[in-house]
Amino acid sequence: MASGLGGQVLRRSFQRSVGGPWNYVGGRRCDPTHATAPFKVTAPATGRVLCEVPGSGKEEVDRAVRSAKDALPAWSKLSGRERGQKLMEACRIIRENLEDISRLEVQDTGKPIWEARVDIGSCADALEYYGGLAPAIVGQHIPLSGGSFAMVQRRPLGVVGGIGAWNFPMQTCVWKVAPALACGNTFVYKPSQFTPVTAVTLGEVLTSAGVMDGVFNVVQGEGEAGEHLCHHPDVAKLSFTGSVPTGSKVMAAGAGGIKAVTLELGGKSPLIVFEDAQLENAIKATLVANFLSQGQVCSNGTRVFVHRSIAKTFTERLVSATRALKIGDPMAEDTTVGATIHEEHARKVLGYLTSAREEGAVVACGGEQVVLPGDLEGGWYLSPAVLTNCHDDMKVVREEVFGSVAAILVFDSEEEVVRRANDTLFGLAGAVFTRDLNRAHRVANEIEAGTVWINNYNLYPTEVPFGGYKHSGVGRENGTTVVEAFTQTRTLYVEMGDVDAGPLYVE
Ligand code: NAD
Repeated sequence: MASGLGGQVLRRSFQRSVGGPWNYVGGRRCDPTHATAPFKVTAPATGRVLCEVPGSGKEEVDRAVRSAKDALPAWSKLSGRERGQKLMEACRIIRENLEDISRLEVQDTGKPIWEARVDIGSCADALEYYGGLAPAIVGQHIPLSGGSFAMVQRRPLGVVGGIGAWNFPMQTCVWKVAPALACGNTFVYKPSQFTPVTAVTLGEVLTSAGVMDGVFNVVQGEGEAGEHLCHHPDVAKLSFTGSVPTGSKVMAAGAGGIKAVTLELGGKSPLIVFEDAQLENAIKATLVANFLSQGQVCSNGTRVFVHRSIAKTFTERLVSATRALKIGDPMAEDTTVGATIHEEHARKVLGYLTSAREEGAVVACGGEQVVLPGDLEGGWYLSPAVLTNCHDDMKVVREEVFGSVAAILVFDSEEEVVRRANDTLFGLAGAVFTRDLNRAHRVANEIEAGTVWINNYNLYPTEVPFGGYKHSGVGRENGTTVVEAFTQTRTLYVEMGDVDAGPLYVE
C-alpha cells in the first residue's frame, strides 16, 4: 500500500537542490554506465552554468529500456486501483512539496515563481486525475449468437518512450507519464537538454509514492539520446513534445519500428476579438495568451485579430497593460516576466522583431533586451512586445516565434477573419472573444485547431483533451481520450456451441 510511503520517505530522499546524479534507472538516481560528452545547462536567470550533465549513449538508453521492460510484468499485473493509489500518493507528495519543486523548476526555466507553482500544481492534478481514472480503465463484454461472447481486454502497450521540450519541463513529463502508468505501461523519459532537473525529481516522487523500481526511468542527453530511444526495438510507443521538424523525425522513427506516436508540436494560434467583446477580459486574455513563460508557450495566441472598430482602443489598453508587466528576478513574488531560456533563443526572438520592423510593423512597446543588475546581469530578459501595422504575410506573423511578441492584425468581417485565422499550417489552439453566443459558436466551429477557447485563453484542465490539428500534432493528451493512446485491445472470442465449418466439413 502506498499509504506507508508518504511524505516521510520523500523528506529523507528528496533532492531539493540542483545536482546529479542525473539519470534515473531502476528506482534511483544514477550516472550513465556509458556516458557521452557532458553538456552544460545554463541558469536562464543568471546566464551562469547551472549544472553539467553527462549525456546518455546507446548503451545507457538500452539499460533504461531494459529496466522499464523488466518492470512491466509486475506493474501491468497490478489492478488499476493499486496503480491509481500510487499515482494519488505521488499527487499528495507533489502538493506537500509544491514550493520546493517549483523553485527547482524556476532555476531550470527562468519562469516566474508564481507560474512555476501553477505548472507544478497541474502535475499534481494530472496524477490525481489519472490515479482516479485507473480503476475505471476496463474492457468490454460483447454477447454474440448462441450464448457465445467476446471479451475485449484493454491492455498496456509496453514500454513508452517520452521526449520533452524545455518550456514546461515537469508538466510535459507528467502529462505523458501519469496516463501511461495508469494504463499499466512503463516509461523511459528524455527531458530537454536545457531543463534536465525536474524529470529526475518526478522519479524520486514516484518511487517515494510506492511505484516499483524501473517503472519510470530518465535518461539525459541531447537529440542523439532521443534518437536512440525512438529507434529502440523494445519501445512500443513514442510520445513527443517539441518542434515540428523534430516531431517529423520522431514520427519517421516510429514508422520504421511500427510504433504508435503522439506528437505535441508548435503553434501560431489566432485570438479573435470582435467589436462586442468584453474588452477588459479580452485584454487580460491577450496578456495570458502571449506573455506567460516569456512567450515560450506552444498554444499562445500570437496572431491577435481585432475588429477595426475597436482596434485603436484595444491596442492602447493592451500596450498600457503590457508596459505594466514587471521584468525581474524569476524568484521574486512580484515578477511577471522572467528570463528567456538561453542567449541563442533570445537572439532568435530579437531577430523576429528586426524582420518585423523591416517588413513594416510598428513596435508599439517592448521588444528590447533588458539588462538587470547584480547576479541577473548575464540572463536574457526581453521586454514583452506588441506589434501594430502587421499583415498576414510577415515572417513574424507566419512563423512560431516562441517569445513575447504579440502581433495585432485588424479585420473587418467574420468571414474574412475565419479565413485568415485558418491560413496557417499550424492548428494547436485559438480563441474567440464576443458577447454574441451564436457568433462565438459559429466562429469557434470554423477554427481549424485542437482547442478553441471562447472568452478565455490558455487554460488546460487535466480533464480536457489537448493537442493539435495539421502540423501542430497527432493525438491528444489529457482527458479520457488519452487512454486509447496508451492501451491496445485484445479480443477473446469464446465459442459456446459447436464449430460451424459449413461445406468444408462433411461427416
Ligand atoms: P525541439 O524539437 O528542439 O526539442 C524537443 C526534444 O526533442 C528535446 O528533448 C530534444 O533533445 C529532442 N530531440 C532533438 N532531436 C531529436 C531527434 N532526432 N530524435 C528524438 N529527439 C530529439 O523543441 P524545443 O525547442 O525543446 O521546444 C520548443 C517547441 O516545442 C516549440 O515548437 C513548441 O511549440 C513546442 N511545444 C509544444 C507543446 C504542445 O503541447 N503542443 C508543448 C510545449 C512545447
